Amino acid sequence: MNTSQKLRKKLLNVSKTGVILQEILAVIAGIKPCFTMDLNEKRKRIIIREFPELSIECKQKIIANKQITVCALSKKKEIAKEAVNSLTARKDSEKIGKLLGYPECCIKNHSYFFQHNLQRYSPIVTYQSYQNSKQFNFLTNNLLNFSTRLYTKEDYEKLEQYLLLNKRFPIPIVYLQFISHIPCSYNCQKSIKTGKEINALLKKYAPEVEKVVTYTLSKPILFFDVFKWVILDGYVRKNTLFYKKVILPISPIDFSLLNKIIKGNKIVIKEKKIEILKNNSSLYSYLKKDKTDGFILDFKEK
Ligand SMILES: [Zn+2]
Repeated sequence: MNTSQKLRKKLLNVSKTGVILQEILAVIAGIKPCFTMDLNEKRKRIIIREFPELSIECKQKIIANKQITVCALSKKKEIAKEAVNSLTARKDSEKIGKLLGYPECCIKNHSYFFQHNLQRYSPIVTYQSYQNSKQFNFLTNNLLNFSTRLYTKEDYEKLEQYLLLNKRFPIPIVYLQFISHIPCSYNCQKSIKTGKEINALLKKYAPEVEKVVTYTLSKPILFFDVFKWVILDGYVRKNTLFYKKVILPISPIDFSLLNKIIKGNKIVIKEKKIEILKNNSSLYSYLKKDKTDGFILDFKEK
């Protein structure tokens, strides 16, 4: 077995631990200094066995009334230690961002939300990056890697629903990412660079995974909130999305709204409402609470 075959086998073994393939590849390849995840003892032992070169530092944390073991993984013990300490204290978001290898522009941008305690409001955070964007590069589409950004009991219940809805998805659903951070814009050059590097690693070590991730992330998405969005196979002209079909995964969105979208082939975004049409006849008007309640991020492959 050559080195890359060996690595492929190791990655297959760690995929049983729930670790995100892209994250472990990025740390091994030196693209990122560190990544964090929840791990139990059994899973931790598998990672230590397969990747003895990684240091794993863990700490207990209470999230939504549940005790969770948060771990940081790095090639350097002191970085893993610092990351897990900062993360469990959650005081300095800029420091955590640096340890996780996020671009400086994106860290600076996101610290505004932390300072104003708005980091939990995904429509506001996403809308701001949307407004900053001239283009929507699929490599920066981080909208489906929300499992590390949950805060309440309801969030975790919705996550269970989401996993159940998509249990036939062809790859582990947590693999739907190239970058793990929230980009300052969807054409942020530093985020695109990281995304490209991760994409190349996936192509080399998990080409089947790469195909599904690229297909899914390079489509327009109608976004409302963390657990309310629809991915469509189509294209955008000004404020109108023309589409053939809804593609997987499905979010736990209100099913009557989803059904209208499935039946339609055109979505028009207006200031106060969203119009769903089949050819040119209206199927449904969705009244927006505000400007962040439903907008289209026009991701495409370039
Ligand atoms: Zn940036």
